[in-house]
Amino acid sequence: MHILIIEDDLAIAANLYDFLESRGHSADAAADGEAGFHLAVTLRFDGILLDIGLPGMGGMALCRKLRHESQIDTPVLMLTARDTLEDKLAGFEHGADDYLVKPFALKEVEARLVALHKRHRGKVACRLLEVDNLTYDPKTFSIRFAEQNVKLPPKCIRLLALMMSEPGRVFSRNELEAEAWECVQETSDTLRSHMHVLRRALTKAGGYDPIETIHGLGYSLTLRA
Ligand code: CA
Repeated sequence: MHILIIEDDLAIAANLYDFLESRGHSADAAADGEAGFHLAVTLRFDGILLDIGLPGMGGMALCRKLRHESQIDTPVLMLTARDTLEDKLAGFEHGADDYLVKPFALKEVEARLVALHKRHRGKVACRLLEVDNLTYDPKTFSIRFAEQNVKLPPKCIRLLALMMSEPGRVFSRNELEAEAWECVQETSDTLRSHMHVLRRALTKAGGYDPIETIHGLGYSLTLRA
């Protein structure tokens, strides 16, 4: 997972950072609300660790801004020094997903982040995806492109759904394989042949191929407006 740590206590932030990296995650850190907010809206994270007491924009205000102004629904795990019911309720009201009181066990931070990430992915997976004239309804597994129905095998649907979740972003081979096969494939032929089937079906329906090969990096979905 890719985690954003927003914490002004540098010792705590370094601890979290080192622990998460040692567990195979990647992390970015910010020491104040403004820098944290900027990272949260410009990069993609699987979870945000957010301290309530921050210099400048506090954790509550940051969370509210993320949810209401930027429409960012990345799971937020709030960190606080105080264990009061009011704090907890205020955190949830401002859009936090979970709450941990300092001092916390690092393993618990990770367990909560993993649980939040799973729950979030479950929610995202049920949502109708719509990118211009391309739609995917996960409830019926139906895809429409330029008002045509597109029939695809399940693995191609998973690849497309992942790319539709962030149009324009480049998805690496590993990310795509992890999504469709739940592990990285030994040869790149499997992904390549599924991509070929997907692109051919989309081209047939829409009259052009909306998937771009970014040489050496991966694939991206770019629809013509
Ligand atoms: Ca603090």
